[in-house]
Amino acid sequence: MMDRRQFLSTAAVAAAGAMAPLPAFAAAPKLGTQAPGFFRFTIGDFEITALHDGSVAGEIDDKRIPNVKFDDVVKHMESQYIPVKPFVNQFNTMVVNTGAKLVLIDAGFANNGAPTTGKLAANLAAAGIDAKSIDTVLVSHFHPDHINGLRNKEGELVYGGAEHVVPAGDFAHFMSEEKMNAVPEAARGAFKTAQRVFAPNAKDLRQAEWGKEWAPGITAIQSDGHTPGHTSFVVSSGNKTLLVVGDACNDPRIFAKNPEWHLGFDLDKPKAVETRKKLLDMASADRMQVTFYHAAFPATGFVSKTATGYDWYPMSYTDLM
Ligand SMILES: [Zn+2]
Repeated sequence: MMDRRQFLSTAAVAAAGAMAPLPAFAAAPKLGTQAPGFFRFTIGDFEITALHDGSVAGEIDDKRIPNVKFDDVVKHMESQYIPVKPFVNQFNTMVVNTGAKLVLIDAGFANNGAPTTGKLAANLAAAGIDAKSIDTVLVSHFHPDHINGLRNKEGELVYGGAEHVVPAGDFAHFMSEEKMNAVPEAARGAFKTAQRVFAPNAKDLRQAEWGKEWAPGITAIQSDGHTPGHTSFVVSSGNKTLLVVGDACNDPRIFAKNPEWHLGFDLDKPKAVETRKKLLDMASADRMQVTFYHAAFPATGFVSKTATGYDWYPMSYTDLM
């Protein structure tokens, strides 16, 4: 029997014998570019555009998932074909067109982050959405990767024409000097970013509560744990619903599969686990479409409960034909 190497070399000889040598066409430079990062789907009469703000390649260490042995984290990631070195963290926002309003949910970094982020503006333009026409901005929580994009480095509001609706619980926490001073210096970045972004227009913000519609057809639901005011959203139109999970479940390949794993950034870890399971149970039972801010773009699909967690079924635009 031929082994694999013999087979390959025999095949190469056969191919060389069969064909006259061809000129090489490898002189063109590699492009390295992708399609613009937007993805359109509908929920009832609403049109949703998932929008990619970019990603950051970095390192993960044993602090990322502190209640699991780092070797087991790496083993799991390898089993799911998730890059480990470098580890890629990505950021995905969305716009809901309700027919009457254009609603942006979370905002990425604008020009305040790594050069591989801040792509929302270009992707909005590629998707045919004028940033100036955004009527309402909804904020899931006050972590920098979700709010930096609301105010650019020059200090201007990026969506100046929009009403900004924020979770009252996160406003109370992250805008408090007292709360900031109670944590170690290394943990103060999120407080400082919240101050930078929101202090100049604090009086214009609408602080809102769970259980209410924050925009027509978009209801805020309690999903604290990641932050004290973390908010997920149910987008409803007709008989269709979309659950915007936000950061209540980080990358579903890791945290839907293993809902009891603690994310280092979750401020109240047991509460975050409880919230994650509550949301994913609901999505699985009701077969709701979901989005996750840190899933691989387009960051939308379905989850299904298993004996140990939830399977994740990402969606592609070819599912929509
Ligand atoms: Zn985040």
